[in-house]
Amino acid sequence: MSFSITLPDGSKRDFDKALTVGDLAHNIATSLGKAAVAAKVDGQLEPVDYQLNKNAKVAIITNKAIITNKDDEALNVLRATAAFLFEAVAKKAYPELHFGEHAADKDGFYVDTDKTNQIKISELPQLEKAMKKSIKNGEKIEHVQVAKSDLEAEFKDDPYKGALLKNEKGDTVDAYKLGDFTDFGFDVLLPNTGKIKYFKLLSVAGAYWMGKSSNPMLQRISGTAFFKESALKADLKRRDEIKERDHRTIGRDLDLFFVDPKVGAGLPYWMPKGATIRRVIERYIIDKEVADGYQHVYTPVLMNLNAYKTSGHWAHYRDDMFPPMDMGDGEMLELRPMNCPSHIEIYKHHIRSYRELPIRIAELGMMHRYEKSGALSGLQRVREMTLNDGHTFVALDQVQDEFAKILKLIMDVYKDFDITDYYFRFSYRDPKNTQKYFSNDEMWEKSQKMLKGAMDDLGLDYVEAEGEAAFYGPKLDIQTKTALGNDETMSTIQLDFMLPERFNLTYVGKDGEEHRPVMIHRGIVGTMERFVAYLTEIYKGAFPTWLAPIQVEVIPVNLDAHSDYAKKVRDELNKRGFRAEADLRNEKLGYKIRESQTQKIPYTLVLGDKEMKANSVNVRPYGTDDEIAKSLDDFIKEIDKDVNSYSRK
Ligand code: ATP
Ligand code: ZN
Repeated sequence: MSFSITLPDGSKRDFDKALTVGDLAHNIATSLGKAAVAAKVDGQLEPVDYQLNKNAKVAIITNKAIITNKDDEALNVLRATAAFLFEAVAKKAYPELHFGEHAADKDGFYVDTDKTNQIKISELPQLEKAMKKSIKNGEKIEHVQVAKSDLEAEFKDDPYKGALLKNEKGDTVDAYKLGDFTDFGFDVLLPNTGKIKYFKLLSVAGAYWMGKSSNPMLQRISGTAFFKESALKADLKRRDEIKERDHRTIGRDLDLFFVDPKVGAGLPYWMPKGATIRRVIERYIIDKEVADGYQHVYTPVLMNLNAYKTSGHWAHYRDDMFPPMDMGDGEMLELRPMNCPSHIEIYKHHIRSYRELPIRIAELGMMHRYEKSGALSGLQRVREMTLNDGHTFVALDQVQDEFAKILKLIMDVYKDFDITDYYFRFSYRDPKNTQKYFSNDEMWEKSQKMLKGAMDDLGLDYVEAEGEAAFYGPKLDIQTKTALGNDETMSTIQLDFMLPERFNLTYVGKDGEEHRPVMIHRGIVGTMERFVAYLTEIYKGAFPTWLAPIQVEVIPVNLDAHSDYAKKVRDELNKRGFRAEADLRNEKLGYKIRESQTQKIPYTLVLGDKEMKANSVNVRPYGTDDEIAKSLDDFIKEIDKDVNSYSRK
């Protein structure tokens, strides 16, 4: 036997007897042997015990220099090994436990377990301890090839493994053993638990078996692992920061909203405080748009399915739509996934003249989209949403001005909400790809030039994305980042040449002839849901005064002596349009003040004898240790200024 192994630098090593990947790494350098985690053998990921016995290209994957949470093969191997070790120690601690799916990726690892033997979050430290013991002892993880039929027999009483085994191709299955514990479904694991070192079990949450909401709910235990202690520490810190910002956590703590799969996955309930924030935003944006020349309308959430057949949504977007309702008399009704056809009906309701253009129709339009259950996330991705939608109908030569006007409106609104971390992404067509885009060269050329012109006039930088335009026209997206670090589109301006054609929209021109308008779809703050999720994250729940659901908490020092004065102050503030509440519960003063702070209420007023006598208040602004004595009148002036400094109506 003789074969040669080609290394990534092109050098070759010849061998005359079989050796493992691990041996090869040692053979190259002792340090490489120690650092080897797995290898790519002819492009295929293999464990260190993999036998090399013929010509192959081999790249050793090591644990070196891996500190970030990028999708990285070495980290994935490490995390899969940690998941496997977790299973082994959990099975020992709870012999009745069964395991569902498991995975390892750039976010860490998870193992699904059944509910009957529920693991509490308080039990994770014990399990971590057991894992650490195994790591310290450096227990061998054995890689074995097992006949599928043997595994079927071994797992015959297991409620999940049978189904998981069906996913395994071939008659033999790659399995791993630690002592008498066996599991499969891992790509590659480390050969020894001693190599895991730095890991952490993070959370216990619900997860449906196989990710389907019609299946039973299992428990998902998540964790992460790194090769370096500093990397683990940095990652835990990052996770804490995310948790602190995560709108789902804040939404629960501040009682803003809830989503309960039992009453409808992705269908949010806005609690009074969340509803208040939303109402303020809705009023703000309607006022802003009306002042900018928009006509606000109300149109139904249900529409005849034919509208979506004409628009093309039914052909191209059906997977994201709720199934139509068959009314039994031939009428098919559809919950709208977009508002465009509704606004088109408003446009078509009258004969339009060039003198009226641009016509700007806007609505806080409720829409329904059947998002995948795995993609749903708090208010950020839902199935029922209300879009700050608007459609402008313009003549082609008005596109540039209208586009600039919308852009200015967006930036103005961002300023009011203190949104600074965003960028522009300008998507136009790939002219070579004639298939993908609506064919009207003149329209494309002209409009792309106009949009770029408008951006340049305003001196705005943008990222260009050729080939990313919608089928029906070029667009500008304004991209922001979520607490989890994902890019998302907040605002969008999209030109559309297609819908005016499909719905045969016209206006009477100067020449008395019928002309085709261009349609501009635009969303300023996007959906109320995603926008409130976003604001919650950027403000970490400490909403600026004009948005805060409760702006002032009034606390009497002594219930018997000062309640009446507290009520008077509250009523005075309410009368002037501020949202004030008096805390008249039978709790300690210190407790009430602390709670007002944890609820992130902008102003806490503490009222005792001194204040009562002087008709004054003692103000504690949120996030400070200040206690400022002020007359009630002065306080009202201050809060009035505060509210109006944000809302520049
Ligand atoms: P995404 O790519 O996020 O699914 P999209 O490109 O389909 O969004 P549009 O059809 O342009 O989005 O919708 C307009 C706006 O509606 C988006 O900018 C976004 O703010 C918001 N939005 C879209 N889908 C959802 C959803 N499932 N939940 C909450 N808001 C959404
Ligand atoms: Zn639209």
